[in-house]
Amino acid sequence: MRSRWNDQEAGGFDEMGLLVYSSRLIGAETNLVVWGGGNTSAKRVETDYQGLETRVLRVKGSGSDLKTIEPKHFSGVRLDSIERIRSREDMSDDEMVDYLMHSLMEPGSARPSIETLLHGFVPHAYIHHTHADAILSLTNLDVGRKIVAEVYEKEAVLVPYRRPGFKLSRQVAEAIEANPEARAVVLEWHGLITWGDTAKESYLSTSEMVTRAEEHAADRARGRAVFGPPVVKTPPPEARQRLAAAIAPAIRGETSRETRVVLEFDDGEDILDFIGSRDAKALSQIGPATPDHMMNTKVLPLFAEGVSADDIPGSRVRIRAQLARYADDYRAWVARHQRPGDPVLDPYPRVILVPGVGMFTTGKDHQRTRITADIYHHTINVMRCASVIGKYTSLPDDDAYDIEYWPMELYKLTIASQEKELSRRVALVTGAARGIGKVIARTLAAAGAHVVVTDIDEPATRQLAGEIVEANGRGRALAAPMDVTDEASVARGFEAACAAYGGLDIVVSNAGTAVSRAIDELDAATWRKSLEVNATGHFLVAREALRLMKAQGLGGSIVFNASKNVLAPGKDFAAYSAAKAAQTQLARVLAIEGGEHGIRVNLVNPDAVFEDSGLWNDVTRAERASSKGIAPEDLEEHYRQRNLLKARVLPEDVAEAVLFLASDRSAKTTGCIVPVDGGIAAAFPR
Ligand code: ZN
Repeated sequence: MRSRWNDQEAGGFDEMGLLVYSSRLIGAETNLVVWGGGNTSAKRVETDYQGLETRVLRVKGSGSDLKTIEPKHFSGVRLDSIERIRSREDMSDDEMVDYLMHSLMEPGSARPSIETLLHGFVPHAYIHHTHADAILSLTNLDVGRKIVAEVYEKEAVLVPYRRPGFKLSRQVAEAIEANPEARAVVLEWHGLITWGDTAKESYLSTSEMVTRAEEHAADRARGRAVFGPPVVKTPPPEARQRLAAAIAPAIRGETSRETRVVLEFDDGEDILDFIGSRDAKALSQIGPATPDHMMNTKVLPLFAEGVSADDIPGSRVRIRAQLARYADDYRAWVARHQRPGDPVLDPYPRVILVPGVGMFTTGKDHQRTRITADIYHHTINVMRCASVIGKYTSLPDDDAYDIEYWPMELYKLTIASQEKELSRRVALVTGAARGIGKVIARTLAAAGAHVVVTDIDEPATRQLAGEIVEANGRGRALAAPMDVTDEASVARGFEAACAAYGGLDIVVSNAGTAVSRAIDELDAATWRKSLEVNATGHFLVAREALRLMKAQGLGGSIVFNASKNVLAPGKDFAAYSAAKAAQTQLARVLAIEGGEHGIRVNLVNPDAVFEDSGLWNDVTRAERASSKGIAPEDLEEHYRQRNLLKARVLPEDVAEAVLFLASDRSAKTTGCIVPVDGGIAAAFPR
C-alpha cells in the first residue's frame, strides 16, 4: 500500500479537517474498506450548548462512507460520558446505543458507529479502523495468530475474535495499555486499528501495517497458481454473456420467491480465475472475510454447477434446484442457531458463482447488487493472499450466525426507507427515445423501476438512459438500441435486459409509426411498412416478453400502446388503423395465453398526443390536416374540440395509465383497454 498522505494538501486543515482528510484517504482505497465499512475518530475540545468547554469524540456516524465523508457525518459524543462506563463489566448493545444517543452533542445526529466505545476507551487523539484485505489475509488463517506475531512482533497486538460491542471495546483498550510498544491492534477475522497523537501518525501506521502484510503474502505468492489449476473451460466473452443472459431469469425467478430481487452479472478476470479453479468450490464455502461484509453477502455464496451453453433448459432446471437446496440449507442453519424472537431472513443467496460464466449478485436495487459484487472481489483477494501463506479460515459458525442475526444489523433493516411502488422491478420500454415512450420510461423509473430504454435511435436512447440515471441513481437505466421489426435486434435487447438485471417484470410495447393516405392512393410498400412496425413489431416484442417471463416464473405485466383508431377509425388512416387493430387482437390473445403464468396484458388507447412526438412529424401532421380539411396548426385544437372533456391529451396522461397497468394496483386486470383520449363516444371500448 502506498501512503497517499501529502503534507501540502493537509497543511491548512484544523482537527476536523485532518480527520476528514485522512478518512477520505482511507476510503479511497477499497483494499482497506468497502462501501460504508471501517470507521475513524478524533478527540477534541468543543463548546457545548451551554457555552461550556467539553471534551468530545467525533466518530463516524452509521450510514456514511469514508470515501465521501464530510465533517457533518461525524457524530459528536461527550468523552466524559464514555469514560464513565469503562469500568462496567458489560453492557448490552441496546443499552449502549441508548446511552450514546443521550451523550450526543447534537440531538438527532446520525447514530454513532457501533465501534464508538472502542474509539472512546482508547486515549489517543486519532484512530483509524479498517477491514484491510491484507490484514484479513493474515488473520483468516489456520495459523493466523502465529503469522501475526511473526510479521509484527511487538508492534501489533492481536485481539481474539469477538463481536463488536462493549466487551470488545474494553478488550482493545486493555490490550493497548498492556502492550505499550504496540502501534496497532489486529482484530482476528475482522481488521486493523491504528492510532496517533496526530491524524498523520495514525494514517501512516495503517499504511505501514498493511504494507507489511502485503509484502508477507507477496513474498510467498511468486509464480504460484494460488487456487490450483483451472478445472473449467471459460468460453469467450460474447458466448459467456449470452449464457449468463439465458440462465439469469431462472436465477432471478428462484431467488425472488420470497422477496423480489434484481441481479447483476460480473465476469471480472479475478472472478473467472477464481471460480474456474480447482480449489474454488471448497474455499467459497468457508465463510466471509470479515463480519462487516455479511450484511450484504450472507455467510456463504452458492457455488452453482452443471451450467452449459449446450443445454439451456437443463441448465435452468439445475440452477433452480441448487438455489432451492441452498434455501433449505439456510433455513436449517437458522433453525440450529435461532434464539426466541429471531426472524428468518430471505433464505436465498446474495452471491451466486457459476464456473465458466461469472458471478451473479442479488439485491433490492442496482446499488445493493454492486456493493455485494465489490465486496466479493475483495473476499477473493483475501482468500488469494491467505492461501499463499496457509489455509484460509473464517469466523466460527456460531459467531457468523450472531452477526447475520445481530439485532444491531436487523435494526438497520427496519429503518431502511420505504420502498417505491415499482422498487425491485425491471421494465423495458420500446420506442422510448421521444414522445409518449420517453415520458413512460421516466415515469416508471421515478416509481422505482430499473428501466431498459430501447429505440431505433441509439444516441437518443443513451441520452435518456443517462438522464434517468442522473435522476434516480447509478445503474437504474440501461440503453439498448432496438429495431422492433428485426427479430435479432429484439432478441438482443431482451438479452441485454437479462444480462443487466436478470429479467423483466414490465414490458411496454410502445414503438409506432403513422402514415395518412387514402386507400386508393396507398402504395403496398407503405401499407407493409405500417404493418411491420405497428403489428409485427409488437408481435416480436410480445413473443420475447412471453418467453422471458415464462422462464422467470414471476408473472409480469405487458402494456401495449395502441390507438383510439382501433375502435373508431378515421378516414385516410387505413394502414395505421388496420395494423393497430392487429396489434390489439395480438394483445388479447397474449392475455389469454399469459394468464396461467400470471402475465397480465393490457392496452392504452391514446388520441392525438403531439408533445415531442416522432409519430406526429411534419408530414403526418400535414397529411392528417389535409384529410380533415384544416390547416396543420389547427390540428391540436381540432382534436381537443372533438373529445367530451375538451382536453388536450399529454404524454404524462398516457404514462399515468401505463403506470397503473404496469403496477400491482391493476393486479386483477388483464385483456383490458384504457382509453386516454379525453372521451370519444365512438371509441368507447365495448
Ligand atoms: Zn470493523
